[in-house]
Amino acid sequence: MSFPKLGLSPAILEGVKAMGYVEPTPIQLRVIPLILAGQDVIGSAQTGTGKTAAFALPILSQLGQHSKSSRVLVLEPTRELAAQVETAIRDLARFTSLRVAVIYGGVGYGRQEDALRQGVDVLVATPGRLLDHLQQGNCRLDQIKYLVLDEADRMLDMGFLPDVRRIVEKCPRDRHTSLFSATIPPEIDSLIKWAMRRPQTVEIGVRRSPAETVKHVIYPVAEDQKSDLLRELLERVNYDSVIVFCRTKNRADRIGHLLRKSNHAVAILHSNRTQREREQALRGFRDGRYELLVATDIAARGLDIANVSHVINFDVPQHPEDYVHRIGRTGRAEATGDAFTLMVAEDARHVQAIERFIGRRVERVKLENFNYKYTAIFDDDKPGRPPAHERRMRGVRLSGGYYFGPARRRR
Ligand code: AMP
Repeated sequence: MSFPKLGLSPAILEGVKAMGYVEPTPIQLRVIPLILAGQDVIGSAQTGTGKTAAFALPILSQLGQHSKSSRVLVLEPTRELAAQVETAIRDLARFTSLRVAVIYGGVGYGRQEDALRQGVDVLVATPGRLLDHLQQGNCRLDQIKYLVLDEADRMLDMGFLPDVRRIVEKCPRDRHTSLFSATIPPEIDSLIKWAMRRPQTVEIGVRRSPAETVKHVIYPVAEDQKSDLLRELLERVNYDSVIVFCRTKNRADRIGHLLRKSNHAVAILHSNRTQREREQALRGFRDGRYELLVATDIAARGLDIANVSHVINFDVPQHPEDYVHRIGRTGRAEATGDAFTLMVAEDARHVQAIERFIGRRVERVKLENFNYKYTAIFDDDKPGRPPAHERRMRGVRLSGGYYFGPARRRR
């Protein structure tokens, strides 16, 4: 099935062509006809599957030309995502007279007020700032025909659901609603029941598995050798661009500075940085000015950064879903990528949880000729050995009948 057969308007088909899209992705094939038929849609798909175009194309197609009132509202959890989705929509709508605006916090109101005053057809917004504009009477939602709740589980994580509900209440009941979410926890389920009408669910691929094209491995290592191993990996691996994920903002700063000292061009992205710094980091990384982006998980979800050749988890993510999201940064749009995870003994539980979540074991490897120090984690692969974190538990009888007390611990 090709784009012209999907029933999109000629101007939108022009936009698709200009973007260089040849064939619809699986989620586009399923979602576009549903939205064109007026159905509410719940979409769950891996990141990088083309979900933005999946909702944007049929909605834009049905809008026709510019009119003064806002008819589409897309809610996003973060400023970065809002900016990215606005750019994608603007690109796809470039052969129409439709106007698109993005509304998010952390920047001045002036430009956003100007854009709203001129009248926009499509609003892409984060919830807090949109509520501010609504309260100040800068915009109205009473003509909204299409509402999109993107990355709904992320909005839940960030505590935005009450704001989302207040915003949905200001939209007309007679509207079309789509919701995209990687997982459907109970709170999202009740939002769906409240905000949507007989929605159709579209699930693409197995929700839990990381992108198929990504090759991923784990490097067990002692805690105090992590930065050395990271630097050595970056020396030896042939990469184009790498995202290095850290657990905390402090660690991201520390690792970022360390890598700069080793003469890498490094951008740092986390939520303590100003909006300008975050934009500059992302832009520089996309342009290729920085080869490395050191980030916390705010960069992991949904951000469209093309051609990331490697993801390195300097820290094992605490939530298995974040592993899948981080790894999803590589292998976008069917390209291949590698994902390395540095693992210390304390991570064993989290790694097990990740492996259960994705339904398979991730291969453990060692970097050749790296001067490894011994760590208990290296014993984990011996047949019959319980993992390091269990071996360290004193006086605990394990399921196999073994008793590992302090006397058996290796020193
Ligand atoms: P998304 O999942 O919406 O973040 O999209 C991921 C990437 O895939 C973006 O860079 C899109 O421009 C790209 N993309 C979306 N649809 C297609 C398509 N049909 N063919 C090729 N690339 C696409």
